[in-house]
Amino acid sequence: MNVETKSLPLIGHFVGGRAVPEASRTQEVFDPALGRAVARVALASAEEVGEVVEIAQLAFKTWSKLPVAKRAQVMFRFKALLERDTDRICQAISQQHGKTHDDAKGELIRGIEVVEYACGAGQLLKGEHSRDVGPGIDAWSELRPLGVVAGITPFNFPAMVPMWMFPMALVCGNAFVLKPSERDPAAAMILAELLAEAGLPDGVFNVVHGGKEAVDALLAHPLVKAVSFVGSTPIAEAIYKSGTANGKRVQALGGAKNHAVVMPDADLDAAVPAMIGAAYGSAGERCMAISVAVCVGDVVADRLVERLKPAMAAIKVGACSQPRIDMGPVITKASQEKIQAYLAEGVADGADLVVDGRGISVEGHPEGFFVGPTLFDKVKPGMSIYTDEIFGPVLCVVRVETLAEAIALINAHEFGNGTCIFTRDGEAARDFTDGVEVGMVGINVPLPVPVAYHSFGGWKRSLFGDLHIYGPDSLRFYTRKKAVTQRWPSSGIAEKTQFAFPNLAR
Ligand code: NAD
Repeated sequence: MNVETKSLPLIGHFVGGRAVPEASRTQEVFDPALGRAVARVALASAEEVGEVVEIAQLAFKTWSKLPVAKRAQVMFRFKALLERDTDRICQAISQQHGKTHDDAKGELIRGIEVVEYACGAGQLLKGEHSRDVGPGIDAWSELRPLGVVAGITPFNFPAMVPMWMFPMALVCGNAFVLKPSERDPAAAMILAELLAEAGLPDGVFNVVHGGKEAVDALLAHPLVKAVSFVGSTPIAEAIYKSGTANGKRVQALGGAKNHAVVMPDADLDAAVPAMIGAAYGSAGERCMAISVAVCVGDVVADRLVERLKPAMAAIKVGACSQPRIDMGPVITKASQEKIQAYLAEGVADGADLVVDGRGISVEGHPEGFFVGPTLFDKVKPGMSIYTDEIFGPVLCVVRVETLAEAIALINAHEFGNGTCIFTRDGEAARDFTDGVEVGMVGINVPLPVPVAYHSFGGWKRSLFGDLHIYGPDSLRFYTRKKAVTQRWPSSGIAEKTQFAFPNLAR
């Protein structure tokens, strides 16, 4: 490590209720708008991960026995602290991720919604009860916590995605180990600190930083009972395979290529701004970003492209520290270069590059990882700009002739995270909703991210596992059922030896 790197502030693990002030190995964390390192983050070894899991297991024993109302009270206080510290959290997100302050606030609010849902744990965890299933016999099902559960999260929502996981895991009575993205780990540390301030007992929530070694250690540890993962599809698939092979419950949410169908009757006054926000907000680094506009007919395609051009020219690209910015940089130099390579490939493959986001310069930020908003027209399904998740501010227009063709196109794609349709025709919207093999559908809603009391998840290679994340599915994911059958016989009921398989009701 050179002297310059050594002097950068350290983001250590958060274990047993406090931040660990030293680390044996570290990696640089960048401010992507400046293009230079601003911190170092610890990288956990397998041994360190093992120690954290043991601490979490110890904390689980008492936490899981607390009345559910006490666990929910921690969430009520946590919500208040998140609201008190919103600006601090959003600054940390913006500095390391690059997204605007408003966008960071948007993600935090969606995370707080999950915390609000978790506050209702008493109601959610009631279980089911049946009286008199036989003479003097009652039966019920309980939802019991699993033990230590782990969350592995991506860079693009450093506060919201962890909060898709841990609020519900914790109120269900589990202990949690979070492995946030090593690219923007600061937000996770604030969340950990606020949970401690909210009264969460030490060791119930821990953060370990790191890369593959730390993740592999979590996947192999016998005390880790379940793993929630959100990230790219190749890693999601590998984590699902390895976690389930090790006997764990796993939900692994992967990548996306989200299509927006624009019907000939679409209200473009509404669809154009919606499309601009959904394609270029957060520099396109959202798993629900719209990256393909499927126009039904050349007339609407031509009108859409003509109206997107001036709207794109008005997008202000810059650093979140600058005033009135709409879009920040992408996360790393490697990501910037990868996006630029895709743009070159799209041109070579014969797509029309209508607006080119390469070579953009941002005042005072010559080294920043910026890519400007980009638009391709006449994109064909075989091109890499269509098939691959670019994860940058790139929108591809594909022209088809009918709605049926649009649906078939979407269904042939490997991903099935989100999609939407812009139309004034209820029948078309209904056919679309029925026909698309996609987990989340919007009708004149470009980013149909479900509210906290409906679960989030894609289909096909956008999700590995059965249960979606947050909402009612999270209750099932973070608990297991115990069915109890109980008899308190009254003196009038004689016990008889039964050799036949028991039938309680007779
Ligand atoms: P990523 O897959 O590179 O990393 C995600 C997590 O996995 C990080 O914590 C990282 O440290 C860890 N990781 C990376 N390589 C690993 C390896 N070889 N073995 C074990 N762990 C590894 O994803 P990212 O670049 O941080 O995030 C962007 C991706 O996440 C995009 O593909 C995006 O679509 C996806 N995403 C999906 C959703 C969803 O809900 N489906 C939500 C947000 C992001």
